[in-house]
Amino acid sequence: MTAKSHGSPCGDLVFAMRGGSGTVGGMEVPFRVGQGYDVHRIVPGRRLVLGGVEIPCDFGLDGHSDADVLTHAIADAVFGAAGLPDIGHWFPDTDAVNAGIDSQRILARAVAEAKKGGWHLANIDATLVAERPKIAPHLTAMRAAVAATCGIAPEAVGIKATTNERIGFAGRGEGMAALAVALLARPIGRYRA
Ligand SMILES: [Zn+2]
Repeated sequence: MTAKSHGSPCGDLVFAMRGGSGTVGGMEVPFRVGQGYDVHRIVPGRRLVLGGVEIPCDFGLDGHSDADVLTHAIADAVFGAAGLPDIGHWFPDTDAVNAGIDSQRILARAVAEAKKGGWHLANIDATLVAERPKIAPHLTAMRAAVAATCGIAPEAVGIKATTNERIGFAGRGEGMAALAVALLARPIGRYRA
């Protein structure tokens, strides 16, 4: 069974037929989207690591790992898109071996686990919610760090930062939040000339 592409100059897009999960209307869909959300409490005396970049600051984020809230949200988006359990499954905070772990390792694991299912990371978009410090000067370095971890181009990594208008826990400076989406893709068909 074939499905016509919509005006593709390459001709008919022929989808491989597979049963079970991952199909929509009987056709395998070569994309999966996932979302991630994370929150960490602000505390004095800890390093502030966001998107794999250490930012000079008079406070940091509390957590078992390096508490990189932004990278955790991205990793959970990747795990979620691949239909895998979240960070807590892979890196339980009850395991001493994970104490202080570089969260880029967590993200690398998410990308690697997705690849085992044939899924490649297409792009990421993430938003950090933090009242301070100023994040803008660090965005380029954060995108580069996350892209390097994921093995994708910096252009495929969107990172934005916003304040919470002094409202709520993030607005009061009690914590930071991060939201992310990730798109996975895998080749399942071929173009017929
Ligand atoms: Zn976290």
